[in-house]
Amino acid sequence: TGPAKAFAYAPAPESRAIVDIAPSYGLFVDGEFRDASDGKVFKTVSPASEEVLSEVAQASAEDVDTAVRAARAAHAEWAALPGAERAKYLFRIARIVQERARELAVLETLDNGKPIRETRDADLPLIAAHFFYYAGWADKLPHAGFGPDPRPLGVAAQVIPWNFPLLMLAWKIAPALATGNTVVLKPAETTPLSALFFADICRQAGLPRGVVNIVTGAGPTGAALVAHPDVDKVAFTGSTAVGKEIARTVAGTRKRLTLELGGKGANIVFDDAPIDQAVEGIVNGIYFNGGQVCCAGSRLLVQESVQDELLDALKRRLATLRIGDPLDKNTDVGAINSAEQLARITELTRAGEAEGAERWSPACELPSTGYWFAPTVFTNVTQAHRIAREEIFGPVLSVLTFRTPDEAVAKANNTPYGLSAGVWTEKGSRILKMAQQLRAGVIWSNTFNKFDPTSPFGGYQESGFGREGGRHGLEAYLDV
Ligand code: NAD
Repeated sequence: TGPAKAFAYAPAPESRAIVDIAPSYGLFVDGEFRDASDGKVFKTVSPASEEVLSEVAQASAEDVDTAVRAARAAHAEWAALPGAERAKYLFRIARIVQERARELAVLETLDNGKPIRETRDADLPLIAAHFFYYAGWADKLPHAGFGPDPRPLGVAAQVIPWNFPLLMLAWKIAPALATGNTVVLKPAETTPLSALFFADICRQAGLPRGVVNIVTGAGPTGAALVAHPDVDKVAFTGSTAVGKEIARTVAGTRKRLTLELGGKGANIVFDDAPIDQAVEGIVNGIYFNGGQVCCAGSRLLVQESVQDELLDALKRRLATLRIGDPLDKNTDVGAINSAEQLARITELTRAGEAEGAERWSPACELPSTGYWFAPTVFTNVTQAHRIAREEIFGPVLSVLTFRTPDEAVAKANNTPYGLSAGVWTEKGSRILKMAQQLRAGVIWSNTFNKFDPTSPFGGYQESGFGREGGRHGLEAYLDV
């Protein structure tokens, strides 16, 4: 299965000097950074080294209330601004994100553990693109097909996860502001720093106070925000379990809700697919961001006749991946975001072995501190196995096989989720037919994990509802 390689952990400390991290950060409420009302703080650590990066204020229910009031107070004036004026702020934010992209990329990599190559080349350009894209809509809302008088909802409560901290912030904040809503956003407790940096960008852009508020904290802070009676709209990205809890909280209130939850995406490779290209797509599908991606291609469905060829090529490719210091620009796979996430991945992969699937990883030496998991492939997987049904949210691929297109569709759709899928084949007609039959919000063909602000993104079934991105993304923030 190709050359075995050892991977050394080679820290690149000089690159972190690009960003200046303060020893502590406050909440961003009404245009100012402030301590939590009860003075509570929590630590955020680098998952690659377990080093404490900073101490961050932990918002109490009282702080959440203050933030929602600030957003409410700012709303009328913000909503009354001509769209072209709101657009100017969004364009300014987009440009500052571009100007400060190096700092942001390093900060995100330190706090999240993902490779700098990804934050620099994938996350940051997409983040700026989102703000540019929705800035462009701000003065064109009457032409967006929602009728002549679409109106903002009011105050949006937004709760986001840790896997793409700043990109998820952009997906939430850009359309909300473009449509004239004000925002209280809660980043995940393991990755609060880039959202606080973004708060500083809002100040730099001269955004009126109260339009964007950032409350840091864990689940209880998010729960207080979602339950706040003066919130008009809740937007959540994260686990299906918490999504269901939020849906229960919001039920029976006037609040509008969009949920973007988990996934168990099928990457389907037919025997006529270009194998080398498919291998790259599989690697990108499940090892990008260490598989901590809701739309990851975590199930490989390969046509039986090309299984051996494809798996040989895949294993050879995986042996060339470099795992280690996320700040090293040659690193392909970084750290797992937290000890909890590492424990979940470990538990599910043990279940995979216990249930009889065959486990394989390239020879690699993982760093001794931090949270690490080697790229892993499971073969001999059946649909009954937990690793074929549950979201692992780590660098773990479950391989299943099929004989006919109908069988591929049936297996791909055999999931409570429905966020993403990939189809690899030379036949255009087959791609179109599969796209109609697969129950997934996003279907890539002969590529995977490609994102664009113009494309609506979202799920079927337990992957949630509502769309983010594109013209459809506006709808979630408007009364029409
Ligand atoms: P999570 O759903 O617990 O956390 C996501 C966000 O929700 C965080 O900001 C968290 O503080 C907040 N939160 C937690 N409990 C809340 C509550 N009761 N009310 C309001 N907000 C609350 O996700 P996690 O613990 O970070 O990860 C668990 C699993 O979720 C992962 O293993 C993965 O399967 C999945 N996940 C999915 C996505 C995605 O993009 N769809 C992202 C992260 C995690």
